[in-house]
Amino acid sequence: MENLTVYDVATRNVSFVEDTATIQEAINKIEKSELRTIVVKKKNKNSFSILTAGDFFNFKIKKLDFSTKINKIKIKQIEKVHKDTSIISMLDKISNSESYRIVVDEKDSIIGILSCSDIISGIDPELLIKKQSIGNFLNNHFIKTAFANESTLNVISYIKDKVDGAVVIVENEIPIGIFTTKDIIKLLKSKKDLTRPIRNYMISPVEYIKQDISISEALDYIKTKKFKRIVVVDNNNKLLGKITQQDLMKLFYSKWVEMLKHKGTKLNKANKQLDKKYQKLVKKASKDYLTKVFTRNRFDEYISIEIEKIKRYNNSMFSLAIIDIDDFKHVNDTYGHLEGDNVLKIISKFLKKHARTSDVVARWGGEEFVVLLTNTHLEDSIIVAEKFCSAIRKYDFKNIGKITCSIGLTSYKTGDTKESIFARADKAMYLSKQSGKDRVSIEA
Ligand code: GH3
Ligand code: MG
Ligand code: MG
Repeated sequence: MENLTVYDVATRNVSFVEDTATIQEAINKIEKSELRTIVVKKKNKNSFSILTAGDFFNFKIKKLDFSTKINKIKIKQIEKVHKDTSIISMLDKISNSESYRIVVDEKDSIIGILSCSDIISGIDPELLIKKQSIGNFLNNHFIKTAFANESTLNVISYIKDKVDGAVVIVENEIPIGIFTTKDIIKLLKSKKDLTRPIRNYMISPVEYIKQDISISEALDYIKTKKFKRIVVVDNNNKLLGKITQQDLMKLFYSKWVEMLKHKGTKLNKANKQLDKKYQKLVKKASKDYLTKVFTRNRFDEYISIEIEKIKRYNNSMFSLAIIDIDDFKHVNDTYGHLEGDNVLKIISKFLKKHARTSDVVARWGGEEFVVLLTNTHLEDSIIVAEKFCSAIRKYDFKNIGKITCSIGLTSYKTGDTKESIFARADKAMYLSKQSGKDRVSIEA
């Protein structure tokens, strides 16, 4: 495992074009190759860039002319790495935002592409924690200290309201003793004088570890000693912090999961937070009493999350549809409110049926519904909206006959707020009304 090289894990099936080719030519080539990326080689130079499927899509959104030559657009140069480079040495580099490397041989010829996931899948988690020293993880770990001549009562008060019950007694920044919740209990039983200095009751000397031992060594240490926490010092034996059993276990697993899940730890943290937020919402999601679809309030929150996601990752997209039932007043006036209610129920069922499980259907107002189409570009959302429209049109409502609806459609644009998206969708919906109802209109 340790001798695994970049070449072992790289994607060797590479397709490339020269930068004098047009975007269209690159697209044709990438299509044929069935890969997600294409390498761009600078003409007469051995420097490379990469275009991904996502890039092409962005070009399309930006309405870039596909007959433009690639060398006319700005794309970031990709660093090269020699095929014999060990995977381990790439470890530090994988959290960088630049997620590809060009793998070259002795002659500087390209023989593969290396992506973050290639690197990660090539690394053993055991190895990872052997490489990382414990000192790197202390930064955020709170530690309470006291001096040996402080009264024991004082020290107890430090522990009382802290989650992790331990105080390290220091002298010239060097740990000389430790006092924990367990010791308090012993003291209380023995009815000792608690106004005396802590030096009389602390556990001394205190065992500690040096900052540069590895996570796996620290884990072993804490296991054999059966300590709940370990005190960590620097090379001059000065106190740096402490790390608990739980922290260590978390490090062991989360470090790994973290890297697997995403390229950057920051990104991953944000992702986790969003996921949590999302799940919480799903749990307590409230539904409209009549139609059993989401309420307007809940919908608002879903859309905020989608916007947040796009702003963070820039690789997500959604569309929004507003559905207004045509001539609904007439239904109420002619057949009564109860019949009207029934129509609302049936229509919301159609919306749910034709939306995907990841989409959010909500009742926006009286006879207006909204659908959040997650991960859906405008083109695809049209297909869904047409389905809504035709399903309703084709249905034979008992006693009433035919009912139609007008739909307004839009998709997220850079810089959009919730309000601006809704305004566009609403405008589109009115366009449908104005141009004769029973149709889908787009406001792009
Ligand atoms: P348009 O095609 O222009 O949309 O015509 P419309 O008749 O649908 O116009 P409008 O949006 O003004 O009317 C909506 C009607 O929906 C008015 C209201 O009585 C009715 N409505 C709103 N909420 C409910 C409800 O919960 N149940 C019933 N039965 N009717 C409702
Ligand atoms: Mg209306
Ligand atoms: Mg209406």
